[in-house]
Amino acid sequence: MESAIDSHPEAFGRKPSWMVEQMRAEAESIKAAADQTAAQAMGEACRLNEKARKMPQPQETEGKFEIRFAQALVEIMTGRATIAKPDMIRMPEPEKFEPLALVLSSTEQFYYRVTASFCPCQGWYWSNVRYGIGKCRHHTLAFPEIASENARRIEQIKTQRKTEPSRRAAQ
Ligand SMILES: [Zn+2]
Repeated sequence: MESAIDSHPEAFGRKPSWMVEQMRAEAESIKAAADQTAAQAMGEACRLNEKARKMPQPQETEGKFEIRFAQALVEIMTGRATIAKPDMIRMPEPEKFEPLALVLSSTEQFYYRVTASFCPCQGWYWSNVRYGIGKCRHHTLAFPEIASENARRIEQIKTQRKTEPSRRAAQ
């Protein structure tokens, strides 16, 4: 049995020339519209980028804050301006946020943002490098129980290292 395509190839394979012209024109107008949309989208993206670039960017604090910021925070929390520099400022509602405290640096120039597992100071950093456990004055003040546990583990590591000869010495 012959199929419809075999008996009437021109009806399916080739289209009348006016139809081809019309389709081509249509395709071109669609492409032009698409190009215009793309150009508009590109322009919009560029404008947004430019706008974002001009907006003020947050400064990287690394958890270290100037005294005046901590004092502003105290004013926000209490409704009273202050020039006091307490050793430590505890944040309200610790059950809602990560428990943390602002602890005054020994130079009294900064407050460190101290959490149960981190202090941004140098002492903490080097303790972590040496023992893999952080320890510093600020953390001890803010989280005494966790700090004493950390100190106990550090002492353990120290004793272990004293009794076991180091690899370098053995070589
Ligand atoms: Zn510290």
